[in-house]
Amino acid sequence: MALTGMAVYKSLPKTNCGDCGFPTCMAFAMQVAAKQKAMTDCPHLSDQAKSEMSDASAPPMKLVHIGPAGAAGFEIGQETVMFRHEEKFHKPPALAIRIAASLSDDEAAAKLDTINGAVFTRVGQQIGVGLAAVEVDGLAADAAAARVKALAGKSRVPLVVMTENAETMAAAAGALAGQKPLLYKATPANAEAFIKIAADAKCPLALSADTLEKLADLAAAAKEKGVTDLVLAFDGTKVASAVRDITVARRAALRKQFRALGYPAMVNVAVDDPARETVLASTFAAKYAGVLIMNGDDSAELLPVLTTIQNIYTDPQVPNTVEAKLYEIGNVTDGSPVLFTTNFALTYFSVEAEVERSKVPAYICVVDTEGLGVLNAYAGDKISAEKVVKSLDAMQVAGKVKHRKLIIPGLLPSFRAEIEDSSPWKEVLIGPETASGIPAFLVQSWK
Ligand code: SF4
Repeated sequence: MALTGMAVYKSLPKTNCGDCGFPTCMAFAMQVAAKQKAMTDCPHLSDQAKSEMSDASAPPMKLVHIGPAGAAGFEIGQETVMFRHEEKFHKPPALAIRIAASLSDDEAAAKLDTINGAVFTRVGQQIGVGLAAVEVDGLAADAAAARVKALAGKSRVPLVVMTENAETMAAAAGALAGQKPLLYKATPANAEAFIKIAADAKCPLALSADTLEKLADLAAAAKEKGVTDLVLAFDGTKVASAVRDITVARRAALRKQFRALGYPAMVNVAVDDPARETVLASTFAAKYAGVLIMNGDDSAELLPVLTTIQNIYTDPQVPNTVEAKLYEIGNVTDGSPVLFTTNFALTYFSVEAEVERSKVPAYICVVDTEGLGVLNAYAGDKISAEKVVKSLDAMQVAGKVKHRKLIIPGLLPSFRAEIEDSSPWKEVLIGPETASGIPAFLVQSWK
């Protein structure tokens, strides 16, 4: 039965010391009840309370940390719902780009350089490759150790070590002591040795088997040896069976509290065809991978997948907004153009990016439309000429520029007459319908 916040609270010390990162014991208790925190995250819990409550209060899906502690690491798992609209998905998956064992040292280093540089800004957020998957299959143990050590020293991201050979994995894990790479992967054939390696090196371990029953047995065996940072690994090229098995495992963990499958999933979608790999990665980003192993490192392949992840892992109940205020783009003067747009983040950042691209410094007045884009805001009565004029007044835009020209979105041409009639903005220019037209518009129209 699910724990209530009050039941959790009764077992806490009730000192409100804040050492758990929450201001009060009650706030922490609510997080435990929501399965976002484990009871053991309170460092002052009595032993009795720990043994009574920790199993019952543990999140149904384990939080797994890959890489060094702190910001350099990557967390996956601790999801709470099957469907995004029920609440939200919490931990966006990491793209792990495969560095093949067949590459020379120089080629591997060059691939890592590309991974290090694979960071993009979209809708005001940084998105990028989260892991480097270093394949050492077929390498001698000492060569594998040297390869992972050399790459780890230059890597921006934590590593996944890929081999099913126990001797090779032991050498590689030993060379990365303290760096907590994800060891990929234990199978029924090598499980005993791999679980020992993971236990000795204190590393997270990926498990793989051809049925969920065998996978649950592997997880139970690992847990018995003290290895609890586990990831369930699936073959993404077998799309139908992988989607079915991941879904069944997640449902068993979240809905039935079946602890043996209560771990995040990872999917290997590495194939030679970039288009197919992009589709596979996007599919499993939605269903329900925490790590995606890919070959491709080209931005044309990465960006669609990263964009999919970003979209899926936003909170569907909270509009993606920016603050409604006056933004100054570049070195604005009293002769700079003034535009307005809505506070839907995607709209604002598209407009901002295109104004920057135009190299014409400008003011952007962002009107509060409750997170709706231009047409939706107009259709939903969240924007009007009167509201635009009031926003310009409130932000005192007329005091910033000497002219009285205002550029309005091309999707709202009907606002022109009303704004000119009812405000000091006597010359309203109808801008382009899409943000991509802004640079040409500003360069040609703004003299
Ligand atoms: S660390 Fe424990 S005692 Fe302190 S506020 Fe958090 S829950 Fe309460």
